[in-house]
Amino acid sequence: PTAAPKPRPERRNEDFAALDQAHALHPWQHFQGMAREVPLVITEGQGCMVTDTTGRSYLDAVGGVWCTNIGLGRREMAEAIGAQALKLAYANPFVDVTNDPAALLAARLAELAPGDLNRVHFTTGGSTAVDTAVRMVSYYHHARGNPGKTDIVSRENSYHGSTYLSQSVGKRNGDRIEEFRYKTEGIHHLSCPNPYRRPAHLTEAQFCDELVAEFEALIARVGADRIGGFIAEPIQASGGIIIPPEGYLKRMWQLCQRHDILFIADEVVTGFGRIGHWFASLAEFGVQPDMITCAKGLTSGYIPLGALIFSDRIYQAMSQGPSGWFTSGYTYSGHPVACAAGLKNIEIMEREGLLPHAAKVGSYFETRLQALSHLPLVGDVRGRKLMLCVENVADKATKALLPDEANESKRISNACEEMGLLVRPIGHLNVMSPPLTITEGQVDFVVETLERAIARVTDDLVREGFK
Ligand code: PMP
Repeated sequence: PTAAPKPRPERRNEDFAALDQAHALHPWQHFQGMAREVPLVITEGQGCMVTDTTGRSYLDAVGGVWCTNIGLGRREMAEAIGAQALKLAYANPFVDVTNDPAALLAARLAELAPGDLNRVHFTTGGSTAVDTAVRMVSYYHHARGNPGKTDIVSRENSYHGSTYLSQSVGKRNGDRIEEFRYKTEGIHHLSCPNPYRRPAHLTEAQFCDELVAEFEALIARVGADRIGGFIAEPIQASGGIIIPPEGYLKRMWQLCQRHDILFIADEVVTGFGRIGHWFASLAEFGVQPDMITCAKGLTSGYIPLGALIFSDRIYQAMSQGPSGWFTSGYTYSGHPVACAAGLKNIEIMEREGLLPHAAKVGSYFETRLQALSHLPLVGDVRGRKLMLCVENVADKATKALLPDEANESKRISNACEEMGLLVRPIGHLNVMSPPLTITEGQVDFVVETLERAIARVTDDLVREGFK
């Protein structure tokens, strides 16, 4: 006899949190629950606003996780996704088969990407785009008769995803190298180009010189015949909104060119309007990368999709190599529904002028947020356009951090949440990356609420002897 099916009671809203806690493991879940007693269960979203199971609304200044660029709840997006799902929900992307939205989106991305970045390999998200990019570095050099050029250079405080390879390439404080046995062989991490935390005796220009010299020394030590690629987020995102010193990226790129090292720009966060451009590398930093990885804003989070955009030069070399076969790719590469969402997303961004809007409202946000730098807890206010943060410190002069037990960033985020605002705590930072549609009025609300939350938590920290 077959076992009786498990009874499935109807769920009430408040049950979701309990179900989640009983069965789910979240990305970056903190087991000790230092974060909060129960998870926030979000059920609806419109524009920059989200609503939880209890009916409370919040302005989501995190933009999901840097990704809801055109804002939530767009009927047009749902219709594009629905129509494509009915017309063709899936097609084999392998070898010599494709589908029409994938072909169209590849062509659109080639138009939007700088220079000769005319080739697109679709992936399932940012991690798989980075993973493929790193493997493509080896493939490319191998095809050109340099099979030893496989090492990858990255930076401290970078985040490039959570596959085995992409997380090995990245390096953030708190990554558990030993626990997950990340790959370390053939991966080199240079210093983080964080001007705020540069050695005190250096000017920003001198700091930049040292960073470039560090890369030069690494190339000399390891050998240009071994280093195949350099990967960098133009602005390090979850590593702490780190805008490198003036000229840094360009000089690193020039070193790459000199030594036949492929420059991979990880634009998973900086792409699709976050700082006012389709891609930041060339427009903001004067760098023509060999590859760009993107995801998130590519579909504004409506559906998962990533892409690796790479140069004609790389394509040529690979296609003329000895193997004749690019043995890499995913079941959901070029997924027709995801690509239809990507096309509609780009159309909306263009039609509504969301990139110039992001640049304008982002500048306003930068200026407004600077006003918080006078607060005793705030050591630094930084960012560009719609990628911003405040860094909390124990001592503004020495830039010393509070002990981890103070947990101030999380407490500030919690205080914001009580006042209807979501900001993201990362280490000792509170980070913001709202939808590009955010208005100046909403920016005012974000800044005023954050200021109140910081003031409230500062009082608590003083009372508890932390400050
Ligand atoms: N690169 C960067 C710069 C990212 O910020 C992220 C995700 N936060 C990734 C790659 C990984 O993307 P995904 O989570 O879509 O795999």
